[in-house]
Amino acid sequence: MLYTRSSQLFAEAEKVIPGGVNSPVRAFKAVGGTPIFVKSAKGAYMYDEDGNRLIDYINSWGPMILGHAFEPVVQAVIEKAKLGTSFGMPTELETQIAALAVSMVPNIDKIRFVNSGTEACMSAVRLARGFTKRDKIIKFAGCYHGHSDSFLIQAGSGAITFGTPNSPGVTEGTAKDTLLARYNDLENVAALIKANKNEIAAIIVEPVAGNMGCIPPNKGFLEGLRQLCTDNGILLIFDEVMTGFRLARGGVQELFNITADIVCFGKVIGGGLPVGAFAAREEIMNYLAPLGPVYQAGTLSGNPLAMAAGLAMLQSLDADRAIFQRLEEKTAYLAAGMEKVLKANNVVFTINRIGSMVSVHFDAAPVVDFQSAAKGDNETFKKFFHGLLQEGIYIAPSAYETWFITDALTYDDLDFTIQAVDKVSKTF
Ligand SMILES: *Cc1c(COP(=O)(O)O)cnc(C)c1O
Repeated sequence: MLYTRSSQLFAEAEKVIPGGVNSPVRAFKAVGGTPIFVKSAKGAYMYDEDGNRLIDYINSWGPMILGHAFEPVVQAVIEKAKLGTSFGMPTELETQIAALAVSMVPNIDKIRFVNSGTEACMSAVRLARGFTKRDKIIKFAGCYHGHSDSFLIQAGSGAITFGTPNSPGVTEGTAKDTLLARYNDLENVAALIKANKNEIAAIIVEPVAGNMGCIPPNKGFLEGLRQLCTDNGILLIFDEVMTGFRLARGGVQELFNITADIVCFGKVIGGGLPVGAFAAREEIMNYLAPLGPVYQAGTLSGNPLAMAAGLAMLQSLDADRAIFQRLEEKTAYLAAGMEKVLKANNVVFTINRIGSMVSVHFDAAPVVDFQSAAKGDNETFKKFFHGLLQEGIYIAPSAYETWFITDALTYDDLDFTIQAVDKVSKTF
């Protein structure tokens, strides 16, 4: 496959956009080469500017769970656009999507809509700080909660107690209020809480991690976090921007029957338009302006096009009770097929999977946290990525990303993918 026009377009983009992209991982830095420019997409496929068809395993990093250009979403957006695209005033649509979301997700009474997952997590933490009147938060190395300052803290060696900024521009003042813990390590969390008694407002966690590959929580991990939070007056924030409306109707809270205090959403909830949201029980949500003292706002929040897309998406998921089971079966089929051919070709690998999230790691040891995820062989991953691309299969251009299975994928697509993995892994 040739990517001539994409390369030309990238060169043009680089002149006027930093790195040619509006979000860094799109730039192919981790795998080499130049990014592919998309012209259109439908169902499980994307069509690029060179006329290639790609089977898409990223699906806009999660939102397109029912496939690209899903008809009910497209129709809803077109109809709403004709009636005006933004008012900065309330619309009935906002109440409709809020009511539906609240009915689908356990343990939430009220929800507020914002424009991205980043905003949702940032606002959730502010709310938790305001509510508890405490400053510090605990986050886990390798968990991503968007690009706001408090979250751009990563575990370097010895950075277990106090975070060090990993992006210039994040002040040390901000970094010191973010404590880092190791994913799936309860003792580590308990020690941090003990060392910062009555200072921690919230623990924010991806209840199934998806930003260091797919890493499900060990048995007891989420239960343990819940208990530690309850015992210490800390709010538990589930960042379900990736997992919400994907792993189950009610997200990970439903899947594992664990109660979070605040839940963040993004990706699927917007049906492919820029939407985020955060939700909690009434007592916490009423702490937000205009009812309460914690300020949070947005000119385009609850935008009618975004709400129309999100509502159509949630209605479609709500109406199809078999969807999550069907997605799980497709993903299990793909994972089993890949496992078989990778083994046959003597590749060293680990596949992690839960529901419709799956990741391939080129290391034999179990991948349970950021440290183990970082051990994967990136040279093999590069060959894997570019090999699949030549076969017309698009996975994320980074070894730390989850694949997102969409309902639009057929078993023929999955078989084709498994054959391509076989072919490519013979060249390692
Ligand atoms: C994608 C993601 C975010 C950030 O959402 P944006 O819409 O990109 O700002 C936050 N948390 C998790 C778990 C995510 O996967």
